[in-house]
Amino acid sequence: MYRKLTTRFKLIISLVSTAIVTLFIVTGFQHQPSQTNQGEKQKNEPKNIIFVVGDGMGMPIINGYRTLKSEKKGAFTHTAWEQYLVGMQMTHPNDPRDNITDSSAAATAMATGTKTYNDAIAVDNQHHHLKSVVEDAKEKNMSVGFVVTSDLTDATPAAFGVHNVSRRNYNEIADQYFDEKVNGSHKIDILLGGGAKYFIRDDRNLAEEFQKDGYQLVTTKQQLLKSKNDNLLGLFHETEMDKAIDRDGQTPSLKDMTNAALKQLEKNENGFFMLLEGSNIDSAGHDNDVVGVMSEMEDFEKAVQAALDFAKKDQETLVIITADHSTGGFSYGSDGMTRETGYKWDPKPILAAKKTPGYMAEKMEEGREPEDVLNAYIDLKLTKDEIQQVKNAASEKDTSLISKQIQTIFDRRSFTGWTTKAHTGEDVPVYAYGPGKDKWSGLIDNTEHAQNIFEILEKKR
Ligand SMILES: [Zn+2]
Repeated sequence: MYRKLTTRFKLIISLVSTAIVTLFIVTGFQHQPSQTNQGEKQKNEPKNIIFVVGDGMGMPIINGYRTLKSEKKGAFTHTAWEQYLVGMQMTHPNDPRDNITDSSAAATAMATGTKTYNDAIAVDNQHHHLKSVVEDAKEKNMSVGFVVTSDLTDATPAAFGVHNVSRRNYNEIADQYFDEKVNGSHKIDILLGGGAKYFIRDDRNLAEEFQKDGYQLVTTKQQLLKSKNDNLLGLFHETEMDKAIDRDGQTPSLKDMTNAALKQLEKNENGFFMLLEGSNIDSAGHDNDVVGVMSEMEDFEKAVQAALDFAKKDQETLVIITADHSTGGFSYGSDGMTRETGYKWDPKPILAAKKTPGYMAEKMEEGREPEDVLNAYIDLKLTKDEIQQVKNAASEKDTSLISKQIQTIFDRRSFTGWTTKAHTGEDVPVYAYGPGKDKWSGLIDNTEHAQNIFEILEKKR
């Protein structure tokens, strides 16, 4: 009897405790999921998107810049973005002739989610218009900003902004920035970059037309920093902006433009989409100019840091950082390295340059003595042979030949290699920070940028 009771008592205790545990687990699970879902929902749906492109910024260029930055700092250091590496992207176009992309096919893929032929600006192989993430963002009443150092009509901004069968129709592309609209409104609220000659022409003055529609025209750094208008057209150079190292005090940095754009864009409670491009990493790469590339990388990094700082403070901004392709076949290390020279890519000679070789060549073309120019702008003891090579080129009065000879000094001394004046087709890295970043992980195709952004914007309805 006693044993029976004890057994029953034990059974009751055990049932009660099981029930309590079960109740705890059930209620726990009931409360927990709703909190987690809500938290995740907030965390995974960004209000703002900043899409950052280092045009032509292949991996070896990032390696080089990291080394240069470390040299400058005196200790090993990372670039502002590389801790956010999430994967790689494939960049090939859909072109019957080519499997290496240009900036227009790459930008079309990233902006619309469809691969196309080289030269295409947001049109497919049949020339049909492809809807871009910018148009989708505008339909959802978000603000849109473009901040670039190229002409605003250049391939990357053009493919995010307008539609054209060829990237070379610069005047048409400028017209389209004004003429193509979404629900009766201009698509892009803040346009900052170069390319004034395509906006202000004899046959049409788009700067005036934009001003009539409420845009403020800014052409200097000082005007930009003071601007308070929601809509801005910033034209800071006739063509592409100068390389950062060559700029005068009137010209804003990419960071200045980024901060000015963010100040206006963040006013919209529906959020914004911003395209931020370090455009001239590519043009310096085409020139095989390592001084220009590294100077543009430095300018780019400061702008990316500003974008990341904004996102970190704001907590609702997704920042994607990538390249559209690599340019120049830049190699981190080249012929000539020996035990004596050291087995290394050496940033010191590059840091000794105060201007790009192109800038120095122009000064020589204007009539300045080659040796004076070299002494004024390169903080190195050059060999007689190096000076003579530049003098010979200067006597030919050929700017590109002079540039080439000066570039050779930096390439040889830094052990920088180049394999082409065009692009190369290897995969490029992808970095992501902020809510929604997980969509970008792994090896992705360049079309997936747009597909992911469309998915994010879909939830804004
Ligand atoms: Zn290019």
